[in-house]
Amino acid sequence: MSADHKGAEAPVLLSVQGIQKIYPSAGGGVEAVRDLTFDLHKGEFVCLVGPSGSGKTTLLKVISGLMAATTGQVLLDGTVVDGPPRNMALVFQEYGRSLYPWLRVAENVELPLKVAGVGKAERQSRVAEALDAVGLAHVPKSYPWELSGGMQQRVAIARAIAYQPEVLLMDEPFAAVDAQTRADLEDLVRSVWARLGLTVLFVTHDIDESVYLGERVIVLSSSPTVILEDLAIDLPAQRDQLETRSDPRFVELRHHVYAQIQKAKTYTGDTQSVPVVG
Ligand code: ADP
Ligand code: MG
Repeated sequence: MSADHKGAEAPVLLSVQGIQKIYPSAGGGVEAVRDLTFDLHKGEFVCLVGPSGSGKTTLLKVISGLMAATTGQVLLDGTVVDGPPRNMALVFQEYGRSLYPWLRVAENVELPLKVAGVGKAERQSRVAEALDAVGLAHVPKSYPWELSGGMQQRVAIARAIAYQPEVLLMDEPFAAVDAQTRADLEDLVRSVWARLGLTVLFVTHDIDESVYLGERVIVLSSSPTVILEDLAIDLPAQRDQLETRSDPRFVELRHHVYAQIQKAKTYTGDTQSVPVVG
């Protein structure tokens, strides 16, 4: 199965080229990511799925320019990423830690716009629009800690979309919310993506979630990490929590990804140190 959906015809926006990351350590280093190469085309929604510890967060830190790779490079619109790019936003798993508790909801969403030098009127309209998009127009003056976990994560998403990035990176953003909220947030992210024409790289350890959300799913092995498969998700663009998940094709794709990950587990074993071989 190849990635031959419509998004693949758009120009490449983000190019991840031969990324390897070794964390230095006393015992010679931990190779979190071995060799990852893939492209994201403009407007694509791509999910990256891999087991816990497979280097997903490491990869996102490298892509977003927060951390340097040991080998390889990331190109955004043809330019090498060597620091956080302006037109990229990252939503972390730990929303509780990513929001400022002393700032109100609207102020949290507004802050990156201030830092970027966006004028006041423009800031206010973008904040209002983003809060509206995530269904939080009624709580702009609340503090994050007054809200439920799911609402806090919606604030983090609003902050990312108000910034109007070209590329939105999300690191297991729904891992800590309850199942119903998670389903709502999944649909929210798909609808924001479709409306704003973002390019999304969504990282998850949840196979169902990756198949439900993505137009493409990149399957990672266990550490040290390589790409097992780059799979086109040929489901109708209009996803629905009940219908899509009971679609025989969805079930087939999910089984396929699951089998790939199981297979990888038996092959790679538990070695996480850098092998002595070249
Ligand atoms: P994932 O997000 O897929 O769970 P991570 O990127 O967090 O995976 O971690 C990948 C591997 O790198 C793990 O073996 C982890 O222990 C190791 N690792 C992550 N961060 C560091 C660090 N700062 N120093 C050393 N090892 C790390
Ligand atoms: Mg992680």
